[in-house]
Amino acid sequence: MSVAVPVRRKVLIDYLRESGIADERVLAAMAAVPREHFVPAALRHQAYEDYPLEIGEGQTISQPSVVARITELAEVTPRDRVLEIGAGSGYQAAVLAQLARFVFTVERLPRLAEAARGRLAELGYRNVSVQVMDGTLGWRAQAPFEVIVVSAAAPAIPKALVEQLTDGGRLVIPIGELRRQELVRVIRRGDRFEDSRHGPATFVPLVGRDGF
Ligand code: SAH
Repeated sequence: MSVAVPVRRKVLIDYLRESGIADERVLAAMAAVPREHFVPAALRHQAYEDYPLEIGEGQTISQPSVVARITELAEVTPRDRVLEIGAGSGYQAAVLAQLARFVFTVERLPRLAEAARGRLAELGYRNVSVQVMDGTLGWRAQAPFEVIVVSAAAPAIPKALVEQLTDGGRLVIPIGELRRQELVRVIRRGDRFEDSRHGPATFVPLVGRDGF
C-alpha cells in the first residue's frame, strides 16, 4: 500500500463530511472502524474508495457514503438496541456498534456470517451478535428495537419490521427495484408510521419471504 491506511481513512472521512454527512458522531464512528479488515485481502488497497466491493458469495460491502448516510438517518444513541439485516462483511454492524448499546446483525449465508463474527471478535467488538437467519421477518425474540437497518434492497417495507420498532424507533431500508432503490426511513409514532425518502441507493437484493 503506497499511502498509509490512517491517511486514506482520514481522506475518506473528510470527503464524507464535504459530501453532506453532518453528524460528527457518525464521522467519528467511521473513523474508528478499520474498513480494510472487512474486505478481501486482494482488495485492501481499495478499502477507502467510495464504492462497493465484492466480499464473496455474490455479495458486496456497501460503499462508505451509503453506510454513513444510513447510520446518520438511524440517529443511533448509546442506549439503543439495533437490528441489522444483512451482516455481509460486518462493516455496517461495526459502525453501528460504535454508537449503540448493542447490535444484533443477521445474515442468511453462513460463510459470510462466520467470517463477520470472526472479524468483529478479533477487533474486540463485544456489543455485536451475528446470527444466521432470514431477517425479512425481523427477530421477534429480541424485539423491540430502537433502530432497524436493512442492508439489502426490498420491494416494499416488510410489515414485520415496522412492528418490531419501539415508539420513536427508526427503520432505514432501501426500497425499490432490483437495480435501483431509494433510501426510506420509517419512524414509529405510537400506532402511526411516518416515512420519508432520502435519495438513491443500489443494494444487493433482500432474499426471503418479504424480499425479492
Ligand atoms: N452490511 C453489509 C453489506 C451486506 S450486503 C456490510 O457492511 O458488509 C447484503 C447482505 O444481506 C448479503 O450478505 C446477503 O446475503 C444478506 N441478505 C440478503 N437477504 C437476507 C435475509 N433475508 N436475511 C438475512 N440476510 C440477508
